[in-house]
Amino acid sequence: MGSSRLREIFPRIDAALARDRLPICVFDLDSTLFSTAHRNLAILREFVDEHAAEHPHLADVAERIGLDDMGWNVHEDLRRFGFTETEILSRLKGFWFERFFRDEYLAHDVPVPGAVAFVHACHARGALIYYLTGRHVGGMEVGTVRSLREHGFPFWRGRCVLHLKPSFEMNDSTFKQEAIADLRSYHGEVVATFENEPGNANMFLRAFPGATHVLLETIHSPGAEEGSADLVRSPDFELR
Ligand SMILES: [Mg+2]
Repeated sequence: MGSSRLREIFPRIDAALARDRLPICVFDLDSTLFSTAHRNLAILREFVDEHAAEHPHLADVAERIGLDDMGWNVHEDLRRFGFTETEILSRLKGFWFERFFRDEYLAHDVPVPGAVAFVHACHARGALIYYLTGRHVGGMEVGTVRSLREHGFPFWRGRCVLHLKPSFEMNDSTFKQEAIADLRSYHGEVVATFENEPGNANMFLRAFPGATHVLLETIHSPGAEEGSADLVRSPDFELR
């Protein structure tokens, strides 16, 4: 269940409005509002279907892997399950890379529990919803909009911004650093941010020290920096 501290964000929105300031809530997408486990598993299954004939052992291993076993790198997940053929694992890595960052695969994503209702609650209260994602323009924008809409996140109704990375090559944390300047340009008040990457959450904490910064305890990149003790930790968006 989510942290009870998620509720403190609502009075923060009210307080900003009372000061005549636009409250802004910043939401990352991958592994924050959406779980990527279904996307990863779909890619793994597609790979297995294409390679099972030559490698029957691959199908045996893949059959035992489920959604909860999906981590950051699907080839590492497979290795953890005892599949050690380096050549196939490296082929899987390439296969995954060619698919994970594409519009059509975003259709597999599923919202993190409570996420849709929580974003709606912030929007209904008067916050600007700022979706900020390392997904890139030129391959993921159409699927991102479709996925937000199909799962019922607020979108076509004003006070909703979707900010994607301008190019695939740009570094994610550089992009998010630059997005801070965009967030400041509204002359509103960032009241809350939500991230699964501790490094990004720390960066938001430094940029907007008065806000509540939530670190989603889903998955994060290997070797990520330590999250500050001042971050609110929550596994999902369920209100307690
Ligand atoms: Mg993320």
